[in-house]
Amino acid sequence: MDAPPREWFETDYYRVLGVAETATQKEITKAYRALARELHPDANPGDTVAEDRFKEVSAAYEVVGDADKRARYDEVRKLGPMAGAFGGGGGGGGFGGFGPGGINFDAGDLSDLFGGLFSRGRGGGPQRSSTGPRRGPDVEADLTMSFEDSAHGATTTVNVTSEVRCPDCFGSGAAVGTSPRTCPDCGGSGAVVEDQGPFSFSRPCTSCGGRGRVIDTPCGTCGGVGAVRRPRQVKVRIPQGVRDGQRIRVKGRGGAGANGGPDGDLYVRVHVESHPTFGRDGDNLTVTVPVSFAQAALGAEVPVPTLDGGTVTIRIPAGTQSGRTFRIRGRGVTTPKGAGDLMATVELHVPTDLSDAERAAIEALADVGQPSGAAPAGAAGEGDDA
Ligand SMILES: [Zn+2]
Ligand SMILES: [Zn+2]
Repeated sequence: MDAPPREWFETDYYRVLGVAETATQKEITKAYRALARELHPDANPGDTVAEDRFKEVSAAYEVVGDADKRARYDEVRKLGPMAGAFGGGGGGGGFGGFGPGGINFDAGDLSDLFGGLFSRGRGGGPQRSSTGPRRGPDVEADLTMSFEDSAHGATTTVNVTSEVRCPDCFGSGAAVGTSPRTCPDCGGSGAVVEDQGPFSFSRPCTSCGGRGRVIDTPCGTCGGVGAVRRPRQVKVRIPQGVRDGQRIRVKGRGGAGANGGPDGDLYVRVHVESHPTFGRDGDNLTVTVPVSFAQAALGAEVPVPTLDGGTVTIRIPAGTQSGRTFRIRGRGVTTPKGAGDLMATVELHVPTDLSDAERAAIEALADVGQPSGAAPAGAAGEGDDA
């Protein structure tokens, strides 16, 4: 016997035609004719998608529409997932559609086919079957990081518990060595079309729950679902300058996709711990710098701490009021967009525990005159300078 064409392993012609594997030749011909009419290039001028589907349908009918070829095709397909083992010797040139060690159930084509069909339906409204590739769900995770790490960026791991593709059945839901078969009631479309006079309605197939596939022996690990809930660690790179509450998207690290659909994304919500010295305002860092009355009154060079542990010196002019803010350019938080500034706010530090010498000096100051307000000399120590 000649090596069967590679497509026979990769394509479910019954599914393409939307018929059960047990369909009679007559039913197959009927299904083919309906689809061919629907998808014929003459009826869809310029529609390349319809044209491709038309070719698929024709190719499928060429095999299963012929009783002898169909018998051979059925024989080949009984080999199921083991078919991959024939790749080397059979001259089929390998099986590109099969994942590494896994089985790629090519369920997408027909649902697209039927999706198109239903959306053109007369009165039933569009009803997509659930057999097509489904993107996995997005998953959220929380990450608490230090103020410094948020400023500098960090590569870390987050713990995520989510559905992942079952490692034993590779998501098929069928026990190892078996494969799901096409639902005989809906022919794999996941939906049943009912003709009601001039209208036709489609409803989800109750036999397979709209999946289009029936699993005879469920995978013991996932119970036939094709996915298991597992804790896992995902390595994430947090960019520098991330803000508290920001969500970082990690593409493709969310929940597992179904029927060959892509995995969802992981969103990491960042919580930034507060810092004892620094605050943050946009991309600026804020810091409070205590100054003495003498420094504020006379002017001084004042050291300002920076986030990297160093200091920069700023010159405050004579007569600086408490609460005045000085901008130190480029010493804020660096983000991919650029660097913010360091905003240093001076705060007059009033001593609470005076030495005798200090007390004497301040009393002398009080005797010299009042501060440039109109307060009487006796009120100078009352601290009511708001
Ligand atoms: Zn499984
Ligand atoms: Zn079904």
